[in-house]
Amino acid sequence: MFELETDQDLRRFVGNHASALRRSTRRHSEWAADEIEACVWDRMRGHRCGLAICPRCARDTRLRLLNWAESAPHSEAALVTSYLKSVAFGDLCGADLERLKRNFRQQLVRGGVGMKALGGIETAWEAATSSWLIHAHHIALDLQPEDRSRLKDVAKSLSRPRAIKVQPIKEGELDYTATYCLKLGLMVSSRSNAKSRRNFRIRMPSAPATELAEFLAGHGPDDFLFPIGFRRRGASIELA
Ligand SMILES: [Zn+2]
Repeated sequence: MFELETDQDLRRFVGNHASALRRSTRRHSEWAADEIEACVWDRMRGHRCGLAICPRCARDTRLRLLNWAESAPHSEAALVTSYLKSVAFGDLCGADLERLKRNFRQQLVRGGVGMKALGGIETAWEAATSSWLIHAHHIALDLQPEDRSRLKDVAKSLSRPRAIKVQPIKEGELDYTATYCLKLGLMVSSRSNAKSRRNFRIRMPSAPATELAEFLAGHGPDDFLFPIGFRRRGASIELA
């Protein structure tokens, strides 16, 4: 199986995440920095912090997505990347994830798209405009031709050009594509380094990194998981 972050990786990331939080002026951030360090270093004997900024807790959610992608039967797997919203620097923590998901699902329903897909919500830092591009990456394991063309129609109805992009997932690339859908880190990632089967990561400038850390610290990792077309069992989603 494709290897997710090792324990060594988690310890490397947590230092970076905690220092981003410690630069923040929000009161919650200092507490969150202590929580994620205690969680990754297991200082509380099995206590888990449950914060999306925690590399250890984030790994669990990333693993759920990966397990689903690897265990579900598939024929025409595709990566669907969708634009959700742009947010100015300073406003990221006000973004309402549930509302973004609901709005996008409604757009798909209105466009007659019946795909079943699992993915995640991410924020890309746009240095040129000092803003965040909130977007979603989804894996659709069996994307029907009619859904493919309906997705194009939905994309045309959205305000931004190329608002939805559909790319085929090649044999053997499903596992690392699943980990690309939901990264929950402070690095800027790119899928371009396909040969090494590792997502290429570079560091983000410190002011946006701090804002992203604050945003992630205000949520659990599952809040960023974005299922489309799954059944719900109470408050949780049935991934099987
Ligand atoms: Zn944790």
